[in-house]
Amino acid sequence: MKITSVEAIAICIDPDADSPMLVAGEDAARLSEIEQTRRRNLARHQTCLVRIETDTGLVGWGEGQESVAPRVIKTVIDDVCAPMVIGRNPFDIEAIWNTQYQFVREAGHLTGYYIDALAGINLALFDLIGKATDQPVYRLLGGQTRDRLWAYAGFGGRDPDATAEVAAEHVAAGFSALKLHCSRLSVAQCAEIARAVRSRVGDDVALMLDAHIGFNVSEAIQLGRVLEDLNFHWLESPTAPEDPYGSADIARALDVQIASGEWLRTSWQWREFLEAHALDVAMPDISRSGLTESKRIAQLCDTYNIPVSPHVGRGGTIALAATIQFAATIPNFQIIEHMHQVHEQRSKICTEYPSPVDGYFEVPDRPGLGMTIDEDVVRGYAI
Ligand SMILES: [Mg+2]
Repeated sequence: MKITSVEAIAICIDPDADSPMLVAGEDAARLSEIEQTRRRNLARHQTCLVRIETDTGLVGWGEGQESVAPRVIKTVIDDVCAPMVIGRNPFDIEAIWNTQYQFVREAGHLTGYYIDALAGINLALFDLIGKATDQPVYRLLGGQTRDRLWAYAGFGGRDPDATAEVAAEHVAAGFSALKLHCSRLSVAQCAEIARAVRSRVGDDVALMLDAHIGFNVSEAIQLGRVLEDLNFHWLESPTAPEDPYGSADIARALDVQIASGEWLRTSWQWREFLEAHALDVAMPDISRSGLTESKRIAQLCDTYNIPVSPHVGRGGTIALAATIQFAATIPNFQIIEHMHQVHEQRSKICTEYPSPVDGYFEVPDRPGLGMTIDEDVVRGYAI
């Protein structure tokens, strides 16, 4: 079998008119124009899909996640990656990743958009060889460790009461784990939101707070102590992504788990954070790292006795489907991220796709990544 085409398709799916563009408790009229533009970008679903076809007619779909400028990924795939992939056997999946990684290594393209592009190709190849062998991808990754995945639902919040209300709605929808995205808020504001949500949902719901790299070391420790008192499950991304040593100081000072690392794409980058003891829970993003490299990252984390809670963030439905296959196989899985409020918006490109039931994902056993793409719909969203 030979690969005959590699096509990257950047897409943009605008939100439905009634979808929440604002985080709970905000008044649009009070936002600056720049902030309103930022929110419109946040409300859109943008990413780069990858379609790989072979001489047998089989097609695999992948996603290289980039929510702001997906056409950058498309250009990297069209101009750099595709010529290295066309003509090869899709079963040479790891060799293909290595060829591409080596190609611009000396020029210093060791992370960022370039690795996102490799991830999109890697996911499409896994989907393709799963279909070629009639196997779900978890079986190609080493086999099934679990058939059900605990999921947490994330949502934004700035006003304590309004955020508590959204939290209660998610609990009513069956979620037993919730993550509060607290971006650009003070320690006191984060603490107030955390208290309001804990008091509203009770003690039986696992709660997490994502600080979106907003604090210095001492602020993060202050916030972590509040979260410990409220029995939070983790504090995420507390400080600068360039500072594994500051993150290690935070992790050492606190009992609450520090979850981190969504910006790290390769095992070489992860090594620095693991050696520094910078985190308690690792959050690799499968549509930034790819499945081949994420498997290596999960194994590396396991040697450091670190659990893995894969990041999905702004990834689309292919990213989610691939993350489910990954989580089904690794030994050190903890919990998977899910953005329930935008799930239907992001899933418009699929006729079959994974959805949580009572706060858990069942692992699909369909061949490939476990979703079915509607190609006409994809092309309708192309930008
Ligand atoms: Mg995060």
